[in-house]
Formats: sequence, structure tokens, C-alpha cells
Amino acid sequence: MLELKRLDIFSNTNCNFSCSNCAAYCRQRSFTENYDVEIYLEPLKHLQTYAHINWIDIYGGEPTLHPDISNFITKIKSSVSNNTLIELTSNGWWMPNEDRYRYLWELIGKLGQGIHPELLKRLSLEDIRLCMKRIRDKYNIITDLYLDSSFACFAFTDIPNNTRDRCRFDKCTILMPNGILSRCGILQSVPENLASINFNKYKSSSFFNIFEGNEKSLNEWLNKTPECCKYCTGDTIKVPHFGYETTVIQEYKYPGDE
Ligand code: SF4
Ligand code: SF4
Repeated sequence: MLELKRLDIFSNTNCNFSCSNCAAYCRQRSFTENYDVEIYLEPLKHLQTYAHINWIDIYGGEPTLHPDISNFITKIKSSVSNNTLIELTSNGWWMPNEDRYRYLWELIGKLGQGIHPELLKRLSLEDIRLCMKRIRDKYNIITDLYLDSSFACFAFTDIPNNTRDRCRFDKCTILMPNGILSRCGILQSVPENLASINFNKYKSSSFFNIFEGNEKSLNEWLNKTPECCKYCTGDTIKVPHFGYETTVIQEYKYPGDE
């Protein structure tokens, strides 16, 4: 059976930060969505008839703001095998009060944490590291602080370029809310008017239909660079995000807060 190294799943497109380099384009959205977990269950079930999923990353937006995130994780978890690693990627806005989300840390195997400028305004890098260490020690899960590099603002062109050397997402796979596989979230997130004509033209040909596929066709699809990637910069930057700004668009309150 084919081993699918990693599968990303969008929980929502809602975020309380507004980063200019957001790969989910939260800042540019006129409306946000919290996805119903049920839309993912059938595609996941069918995919596993010919692929084993090693690792699922649930992200958004900011997944902790999904009103039913606990049920979302539980259902995804129960629809995959016991040895599939379940990761949640968060922007860490809740730091340093990590115990308020103890019920989430108890459900997952890994917490991924991006370093966003807004967070660095609130806490030092050392405080962020200590918070992650407390979570790791208390809840016995893997924690990963993404300190090395991050998305840059994406740029799109109509002249083909050799993205493969630069894009670190060309090996990613994402299950989109419509049940189709895509190489990365950009294909689903970027508003058409922000991408180039050629990127828009080729993006649908890079999708993979789980229900029409099999192990062989999935393997071929995974090993091919999507045509639309030639028209996307796919750049990464070194963090901490110098040159990129974040603004808080909504201070989330915990249930029971004043
Ligand atoms: S924290 Fe920033 S980059 Fe992450 S989802 Fe929110 S707006 Fe996007
Ligand atoms: S080149 Fe762009 S569209 Fe292609 S995988 Fe990389 S970030 Fe995604």
C-alpha cells in the first residue's frame, strides 16, 4: 500500500491574526468558514483503501477558533489508523495559558507552532519555547516550533519558472473541503484575482480525485510537479518574519472571560 507521508486538512479559514504573508489568505477574505468535519470522512475512508496516511496536519486559519474543534479532531482521528500521527498547527495566540486547551493537547500527537509577528510582540522567543516545553512535558506530545523558515508572500507569474528548486511544499498533499486532493493549500486558498492567468488556468488540472484514483495513479500524481506550480514563486523566508507585519483583527475571548 502506498505511504502518504503527510496530509493537510483545513479546519477553517478564520483567524484572529492577520498576517500579510498568510498562505491561507485569511487577511483577504470577505467571509470565513468553519468546516464541518463530516465533509472529510468519506474521502478519507476511500483514500485509505489504497494509501496509508502517516501524518495528518489539521490547520486553518486558526484551528483553536473552530467552534467544534474538539469533535473535528476526534472524528478525523477515529477515521484513520491508530498509527497516523495527528498534528494541530496553531498560531499560539493562547500562550502562555496553554492549560486552557488541555482537552486538545490530550487528543493530538503533535502540536505545530508557527512564529507570527503578533506573537513576538506579546512574548519573547524564550517564553514561547518554555510554553512549548511545558506542553511537551505535561501532555507527552511532540511539539514543533517552526523557526527555520516560513511562507513568503506568494507571487504569481505568467512566465514559467523552475519552482521545484525553491518550493518546499511541492511534496505536500492537502485534502480540500470539496473532497479533492491538491498539492498545497495555495491552490485552494488564493483568490483568483491575486493569482496569474496561467496559474488559474492550470490549477484544476493539478487536482486528484480520490474516488476515481488508485494506488498507481496516486503515486504518479505525487511524483509529478503540478503544471500550475511553474507560475507560483513558492518562496520561503527566514523567520522571524522580518519585513512582514501582523495585525490583530479580533481578540478572541475564552468562554467565561470577562
Ligand atoms: S496566524 Fe497569520 S499566517 Fe497563520 S492563519 Fe492566521 S493570518 Fe494566516
Ligand atoms: S509552487 Fe506554489 S502552488 Fe505549487 S506547491 Fe509550491 S506553494 Fe503550492
